[in-house]
Amino acid sequence: MDYKYAILCTGFLLVHMTLFVLFFSLDVSPLYMYELGTIIFYLYLIFIYVKKKQYVSLLAMICVEVLFNSVLCTVMIGWTYGFMLYLLAMIPVAFYLLTTTTDLMHSFLSAGATSVIIVACFVLTKWFGDLTEPVYQLDVSNNFVKTVFTFNCLIAFGMQIIFSAFYTIEIQNFKKNLEAEKNMLGDIASSDPLTGLLNRRAMEPHLAQAKSNAEEYGKLFSLIICDIDDFKKVNDIYGHALGDQVLKAVSFTFKSNLRDSDYACRWGGEEFLMIIPGPLDVAASIAERLRSEVSKLTFDSEQGVFSITMTFGVCEYVTGYRIEKLIKIADDNLYEGKRNGKNQVVCP
Ligand code: GH3
Ligand code: MG
Ligand code: MG
Repeated sequence: MDYKYAILCTGFLLVHMTLFVLFFSLDVSPLYMYELGTIIFYLYLIFIYVKKKQYVSLLAMICVEVLFNSVLCTVMIGWTYGFMLYLLAMIPVAFYLLTTTTDLMHSFLSAGATSVIIVACFVLTKWFGDLTEPVYQLDVSNNFVKTVFTFNCLIAFGMQIIFSAFYTIEIQNFKKNLEAEKNMLGDIASSDPLTGLLNRRAMEPHLAQAKSNAEEYGKLFSLIICDIDDFKKVNDIYGHALGDQVLKAVSFTFKSNLRDSDYACRWGGEEFLMIIPGPLDVAASIAERLRSEVSKLTFDSEQGVFSITMTFGVCEYVTGYRIEKLIKIADDNLYEGKRNGKNQVVCP
């Protein structure tokens, strides 16, 4: 958002150039000399402060300059030209500093104090103007006064609009970033870093949901639990790193063969649990497909190409059974498959 400070300073630069031309043509020397000074001041701000990103000092200096400019112009040529309107726009600028610093109390105090100074200057300049005549009594038409007043109105209110827009954009961006970070943290907390599948903790609410959907709406579901066969040997023979590659490839096979309505998680080291909406035969055929796809995977190693197999245990939801009991049934089926020679799908 750096460009906004450059735009702001360039805007002020253009306003002061216009005022310089105005006061020069009216021959009000203190004012056109002052405006000349501010033109140099804003060029300096653009090339030094905007570049160095010292935004808090930059905004503070702009506040002081505008305050001084408004009071000076009013004292010199009178209240009717509307230079004091700039002070109204300075209050949102002062509070804008709040969003750029982190110390809320300090920011409130400084923005509050600046606002009090601004209001005091506004009132005192009015009182002073009522007591004494302006230093310069300009010989200009009513229309000229109106034109300058309208110009000042447009700039002063325009500044308030611009700053309100800055606030809105920054708050929206802040909200968006916060939402994105929340989602990212949620993803990190719920997924297994190696395989990208859900982790055990993230699977638990899905299991509870599947059970409550089955109880309330009669939506049947099944569980598949599976385990890589002789995975210890894979690690021992080919190394732990290649073991990790196997886990990744297996998980990828699961992801690409399951539907959006299925849930798969890494339940333990080389053990996976899946929730499959539907009856036992649907889950059994999915398990069979996964078994077959996994057995087709091949892995290159220094000792040559090797492949792996997996054993699957399946069970269907039984009314009134706790999730733990259903997992136990699927697990018993899995171990029956292990005992019976592995690389198979076992249903009750
Ligand atoms: P079975 O066919 O009976 O399942 O035998 P197994 O060798 O697969 O079973 P066991 O439980 O004895 O071995 C599992 C191995 O999985 C042991 C452990 O080192 C390995 N393992 C667990 N998590 C990881 C992991 O994140 N990466 C790797 N590379 N290995 C892992
Ligand atoms: Mg195993
Ligand atoms: Mg195991």
